[in-house]
Amino acid sequence: MVFPKKIKIGGLTYKIVFCEIDDAFGDTDFTKGVIRIDKNQKEEQKIATLLHEILHCLNSQLSEETTEFLAQGIYQVLIHNKFIKLPKNKEVTNKRIRNKKVDIPTAHEPAPASE
Ligand SMILES: [Zn+2]
Repeated sequence: MVFPKKIKIGGLTYKIVFCEIDDAFGDTDFTKGVIRIDKNQKEEQKIATLLHEILHCLNSQLSEETTEFLAQGIYQVLIHNKFIKLPKNKEVTNKRIRNKKVDIPTAHEPAPASE
């Protein structure tokens, strides 16, 4: 998947930057209009992280838990309905969780065993 360099969300334009982030998969600087995505993630994790940050841009009042729940749900709909195609060897899982305390089982996939 080719990520855009910029993305328009709610009338604002955000620059998308891939870089190293120590303590998160991604973050958004609302003042500068910059979404940072940790470059050391798998392709599918980058997509889910971008969705997560887009949701923060749409509504910064949502809790981190709700934001991640929605990001995971939208990500899985996009993958399962082939709006986004991953390389064939990529297994779609819901293992990517930003906060290890949050585990989000879906109707289609059993929750992964705790690691
Ligand atoms: Zn977040």
